[in-house]
Amino acid sequence: MKTILLIDDDEICRKPAAEALRRAKWEVIEAVDGDQGVELAFKHRPDVILCDLLMPRSNGFHVCRAVRENPATKDTRIIVISGRDFPSDRQSAAEAGADDFLVKPVELAQLREALDKTTSMRGETKAPAATAPAPNPKPVADQSTVVKFWGVRGSIPTPGQTTVFFGGNTSCVEVRADGEIIILDAGSGIRPLGESLAAEFRGQPIEITLLITHTHWDHIQGFPFFLPAYDARNRVHILGYEGAREGLASTLAGQMESPYFPIALKQMPGNIVIEELKEMTFNVGTVRVEACFSNHPGVCVGYKLITSSGTIVYLPDNESFNENTDKAHGGALPRNLEKNIAEFIADADVLILDSQYSADEYKAHVGWGHGCVDDVVQIALNNRVKRLFLFHHDPAHDDRYVSNMLMHAREVAQKAGGSLRVEAAREGEQFVLTPRAVNAM
Ligand SMILES: [Zn+2]
Ligand SMILES: [Zn+2]
Repeated sequence: MKTILLIDDDEICRKPAAEALRRAKWEVIEAVDGDQGVELAFKHRPDVILCDLLMPRSNGFHVCRAVRENPATKDTRIIVISGRDFPSDRQSAAEAGADDFLVKPVELAQLREALDKTTSMRGETKAPAATAPAPNPKPVADQSTVVKFWGVRGSIPTPGQTTVFFGGNTSCVEVRADGEIIILDAGSGIRPLGESLAAEFRGQPIEITLLITHTHWDHIQGFPFFLPAYDARNRVHILGYEGAREGLASTLAGQMESPYFPIALKQMPGNIVIEELKEMTFNVGTVRVEACFSNHPGVCVGYKLITSSGTIVYLPDNESFNENTDKAHGGALPRNLEKNIAEFIADADVLILDSQYSADEYKAHVGWGHGCVDDVVQIALNNRVKRLFLFHHDPAHDDRYVSNMLMHAREVAQKAGGSLRVEAAREGEQFVLTPRAVNAM
């Protein structure tokens, strides 16, 4: 006689199933919660476990894992039953070790069929899902370089009436250059960008390169909502560097694990390739890209895109250097980092730079890894930048505050003389770089 363990805290479901199985000549053991279920599984080593998912004292996923981890029960067949039918629950149950998944109410015939199927399985492994064929990407033909801001805020999305003008979405900038679609960071601004791309291409394959500066949440949190990643015709190539604790791929996948999000990164139907960069220079099509480590906690880079219409430097998270920064670090700051950043931005046509704090605010935020607007203007002036965009606006700064910071930045630039043009990045704003326009700036 075969033994089955029913683990379900809901007596109304458990009792009738137990009766029916006994009539069908099964030896039935019952458990009223996950912990008791695991205990009885180890004690009796049943042939099959029928397990509810949502239960007190250890849920069904935990039961599956515990049963699989114990050598004495690792081959026990497990059928999970749930009152809900989310694809992510099915996936998580399978990953935890379940052999089958039934949705309540379960008819007796359905249960018999599942038991027949499950008990006839002998250590089979599932065939891996077929890889979707690569799409035939359609190059986007355009001669000029177009830059559009989709998210300009730092730290956390800040919607509301007081941020309507500059915008509340976190870091995301779109660059169309030399036939490439390049996206800088995947903050919450990438969600409306994805909708815009889907509307523009209407089902034609899109090839996109997404450059990630670092995996702080405000730079990756929008990706789960990026529509083109859900279309198998599209190819999304994600590039970035290994983080301080984990690799790029595992960090990106981590924010989409089932405790946080219902769809796993690997379940997104688009052709998503994640590449952890080793070199600091590489090419996206004919666009030359250079990366530079910034003065920010963890591993964070800025990117320089050298296009046929000019050079764009994107450095969204970076603490500018001045005497306060030095004092806070006991005067021992590595000057080569400052020098590298200065060389990196030198002569840029466009510089998009972290300017989170006013000079007063910065005094209380030295060592936080974000820029002070006065220093940002100075570094742009010192390195002959043509056009500066203040970026990574503080969530506490309303439109009036950002406008005042911009006015101040322009005054500083004006007093210094020269031709530096200063703006504050604004969500939805777009500008075009052509060789002629670059020269005129
Ligand atoms: Zn940031
Ligand atoms: Zn950051």
